[in-house]
Amino acid sequence: MHRRDFIKKSIIASTGLGAACCGGKEEEKIKVVILGFDGANWATIDPLIKKGELPFLKKLKEESAWANFETFKPAKSNVVWTSIASGKTMLKHGILDYVYLKKNGIKVPYTRADRKEPMIWQILDSFGKRSTVINWWCSHPPDKIKGVMVSDHFRRVIRKRVKRDNSSESFATSVFPAEFFEKLIRVEMRKYPKVLQETGLPNFPGLYNPESPWAYAYKLNLLKGFPIFARMDAFVEKISDYLYTNVNVDFFATYFRLPDVVQHFVLSLFKKEYIEGVLSAIKTNTLTREKHKEVIDRISGFLKPVYRYMENIIEKYITENRDSNTYFFIMSDHGFSLYDKGYNHYGLPDPYQAPDGILLIKGPRVKKGRIKKASVFDIAPTILNLYDLPVGKNMDGRVLSDVFRFHRKKRYKVYKLKKDGRMKRDESYDKETLDGLESLGYI
Ligand SMILES: [Zn+2]
Repeated sequence: MHRRDFIKKSIIASTGLGAACCGGKEEEKIKVVILGFDGANWATIDPLIKKGELPFLKKLKEESAWANFETFKPAKSNVVWTSIASGKTMLKHGILDYVYLKKNGIKVPYTRADRKEPMIWQILDSFGKRSTVINWWCSHPPDKIKGVMVSDHFRRVIRKRVKRDNSSESFATSVFPAEFFEKLIRVEMRKYPKVLQETGLPNFPGLYNPESPWAYAYKLNLLKGFPIFARMDAFVEKISDYLYTNVNVDFFATYFRLPDVVQHFVLSLFKKEYIEGVLSAIKTNTLTREKHKEVIDRISGFLKPVYRYMENIIEKYITENRDSNTYFFIMSDHGFSLYDKGYNHYGLPDPYQAPDGILLIKGPRVKKGRIKKASVFDIAPTILNLYDLPVGKNMDGRVLSDVFRFHRKKRYKVYKLKKDGRMKRDESYDKETLDGLESLGYI
């Protein structure tokens, strides 16, 4: 079968089944939008919803299907986001950690070159669907798909600008197709004061408690680096807006990192004695439920502006959406846990589980209410089924059928990663990735 015939057939099949099961309206094309927010969790969002601080998110949760989003250890962001996009465990998709050691002892970061399985946008591409994917972990060099792919390297152009280096050639390969690089490099890169003003984020480094440089001081690189992280997310927001408005696609996914970054340094904003008291109570198993709730509520208080910014982004996409057949998947890759050495999402000792993230699904035919069980592996199969495409036969998740007010027959297919000649490592990208991970204390 010729490729074009195949594409035509699959489109007919998808609209055909829709019409048979649900009436004429289903013939409209389905659009899926993923908004990813690293590290966001209900434990710190819900107290703010309760206080009326996040009114749009409150309404959204009431009108959506939502879940405590199950993830898995080691709960490292690059590993989990690759599972979300592939529907597969790390042993299958090949991204096992932040870095690995080569035989000669040289550290190499896991990147796109190490991916062994196709991502959802590559599968959709094989069915003729167009995607825009922005800033996803392990996405450099970008996949050559119909639509636009902005790799997780592109945002680093901000760091270069901070160093007053205006060259941008090394970033030209981070956008596919290349013509979009010229457009995106002209999108506004807001300076830090303007970011704070327009996003409502505080200058977190100014909130650091200087009289108590406690054991977590090594994490202060994250705190010191906050202006850059904030500017990077603000830039990702602008390029996402630009591509969402100007490029018509079936699948759109973008990713923001701030909720994770801020939670990594949040304990350094507390008084030293307070946190030391809490951690020693955890060690001796004497932390009461009330005290635990008090700490989480205080953390939640520091996160308020971060979640407000997240809420504004979500609100913009949902209220300005013009396609009535759009399904929004809003999610994070993990939450955080308070344990005897601090507040983290990885490196947690047993019996701590990987802390749950958030999942919200909103769309025209979504049943609202809590989804009893949903994991990071379920997103890729669920989205394929939503498009009425075969689910990956060796995917590790399940279709979240209970969420939708229609039933699509499940079909299965083995999807394999096609070698497209872009698997070569980009050494300057690897080096910058290592520097970045080191400065964050991740490796
Ligand atoms: Zn993460």
